[in-house]
Amino acid sequence: MKMLTEQEIRSAFVNCTKGEASRLNVPRDLAESPWDDLDFLGWRDPQAPDRAYLATELDGRTVAVALRSSGAAAWQARRSICSLCVTTHTGGVSLLVAPRAGRAGKQGNSVGAYICSDLACSLYVRGKREVGTRLHESLTVEEKIRRTEANLAAFVARVTA
Ligand SMILES: [Zn+2]
Repeated sequence: MKMLTEQEIRSAFVNCTKGEASRLNVPRDLAESPWDDLDFLGWRDPQAPDRAYLATELDGRTVAVALRSSGAAAWQARRSICSLCVTTHTGGVSLLVAPRAGRAGKQGNSVGAYICSDLACSLYVRGKREVGTRLHESLTVEEKIRRTEANLAAFVARVTA
């Protein structure tokens, strides 16, 4: 994906208030992120590790989503599969919950997904970050990237629906 600026990211949040979007921690080293290898930028707030964020481009538009860890510790110890990149981890997948956009979110509705705890799905898919166990699949990297993009688009659609 193309590089995003801090301002582009802050103004792209679909499921938090403008005030929250202006205060949340965006990585300072954006210029050093491996943009060419990213389907989305995902990060955790170093000051509030239960908060995670992702930003991506969908249909030519930048979209950012605020997420929270559910704190389901039992899940983290188990072997589980990321719902975006389909990487199998032992202890490296978190249940992340996103408030839904608009009125649904204000009423407390949210959607959850099991996602790599470090939000580095793009790197796992490309083999740029390793995991202990890898499900053998006959898909090419290109096919895995397309699947990750489709899964991410479906997740964002559930947040913004
Ligand atoms: Zn993943």
